[in-house]
Amino acid sequence: MSQMTELDGTASADVEFALTAADAAREDLASMPLDQRSQGLLAVADTLDSHAPELLPLAEAETGLTRPRLTSELRRTSVQLRLFADVVSAGDFLDVRIDEEDPGFALGHRPDIRRYLVSVGPVVNFAASNFPFAFSTIGGDTTAALAAGSPVIVKGHPGHPRLSSATYRLVSSALRDAGFPDGSIGLVLGQSQGVEVLTDERIRAATFTGSAQGGRALAEIAARRRIPIPFFGELSSVNPVFVTPQALVQRRDTLAAGFVGSVAGSAGQLCTKPGFLFVPADAELRDVVARRSADQPEHRLLNPHTGSGYRERRDTILSTPGVRLVDEGTLRIDDTGETWATPTIVAVDVETLKHQRDRLLDEAFGPLSILVEYEDLSDLTEIARELFPGNLTGTVHLGQGEALAAIRPLLVQLARSCGRVLVDDWPTGVAVTPAMQHGGPFPSTTNDSGTSVGTAAITRLMRPVAYQGVPAQLLPAPLRDSNPWGVPQRRTAPGESAQWGQLRTPTDS
Ligand code: NAP
Repeated sequence: MSQMTELDGTASADVEFALTAADAAREDLASMPLDQRSQGLLAVADTLDSHAPELLPLAEAETGLTRPRLTSELRRTSVQLRLFADVVSAGDFLDVRIDEEDPGFALGHRPDIRRYLVSVGPVVNFAASNFPFAFSTIGGDTTAALAAGSPVIVKGHPGHPRLSSATYRLVSSALRDAGFPDGSIGLVLGQSQGVEVLTDERIRAATFTGSAQGGRALAEIAARRRIPIPFFGELSSVNPVFVTPQALVQRRDTLAAGFVGSVAGSAGQLCTKPGFLFVPADAELRDVVARRSADQPEHRLLNPHTGSGYRERRDTILSTPGVRLVDEGTLRIDDTGETWATPTIVAVDVETLKHQRDRLLDEAFGPLSILVEYEDLSDLTEIARELFPGNLTGTVHLGQGEALAAIRPLLVQLARSCGRVLVDDWPTGVAVTPAMQHGGPFPSTTNDSGTSVGTAAITRLMRPVAYQGVPAQLLPAPLRDSNPWGVPQRRTAPGESAQWGQLRTPTDS
């Protein structure tokens, strides 16, 4: 990209330049040998690690997040790149299936059919405000796109434009040195520029993390295109946590500490913050929570926009009839317009939550959470079904020796409406691992068949293609019998269909 104006947004010619370059890189990147693709991701990880001393202060100044939090986020980002590099080099994410030609096939002659996953083509990634590394320029979605062999144009978040530009420069240079084509990564800044990229026909998929309002608006734009494209948006989650009476009696202090820590961490600006804690009414718990909450240091919110959004949401909640204060917390606006806050914790009963659902159920993006005091454990399943249709996470805290059969219906309900179900843990930490699921039914995401954390994020940005009867010389490398990339190939040999359905043993029944 020739010119970049961080504050005014990317010039129109430069948006076009990024789109042209991404389109031109498409075939070269998709057909790049997996080992080279993997090496590129490792080079980016090394670059991030070695440039931490210049990236961290920028991130701190632009977001107000603390240095320890940003340090661990940057580390998470480079570990994520290394994990994805290993997945790329192992090759099984291509899901290669080869059905060899079979004249004796059960249904008549079967041709040679070879199927695998290919990159969807250039992707636009709308970066998040609250993870300036892990969900931004080279965060999970960008890394997934590159791993899939897709060029990616990042729509940088206006909350950290200088960090976005600095990261972009480092990443694009590391990729170029690793032999990636120019255009493998691009960056645009500015709202209309983001829409221009999203609506351009060279772009084949979109990823997003941010507000419900913004995500829905962009998802609709993606769907209204002449050729609609998949839009993987992570929007809004309130992450209900349910504490059984037995758990409360046995671990009141530990639960209070875990809850307040989860609400206060990163000033509550996490998509996995527990927004609702269901507990039996208990004055002692309210006291411990209030004390721990009052001990939390003041934290700056990400930017003035997030600050004003939080103040408005907090006002709505505090002025709702039936809402009781547990700890009011503090709010301060400094000379530069930034908002500083300590946690606000309130309590309601279940009836109030139901009657005031329009005011209380939306996400409060900041350090605020609601204790919901319930009377009967057996009501929780219906409450979860009625009030929490789509969340990233749902959590249950159990007591020692708890009657698990009584809890099973709640877990079944949470598995229906959440992407990740936790027991005796807090949802805020999201491990970057192969089995992680970070995505759930609407409104937590626009598309609950995928995840934006963990290695399953890669295949969201791929699509299957089958080759039938194609000569070996014309097949892509992973589908050839000679298997030059050494990828796992799941083969169906001639004659196998005669045995289909006979694998069952007596113990299977
Ligand atoms: P946002 O306002 O949704 O913005 C996210 C990105 O989408 C930005 O790049 C923004 O561009 C773009 N965008 C939003 N609406 C758009 C529209 N109508 N047309 C074109 N582009 C649009 O989210 P945010 O700034 O990160 O935070 C605002 C609120 O989102 C927070 O207060 C919080 O409630 C929520 N949030 C939720 C999560 C989560 O994980 N659930 C994460 C972060 C934020 P411009 O800014 O350039 O316009």
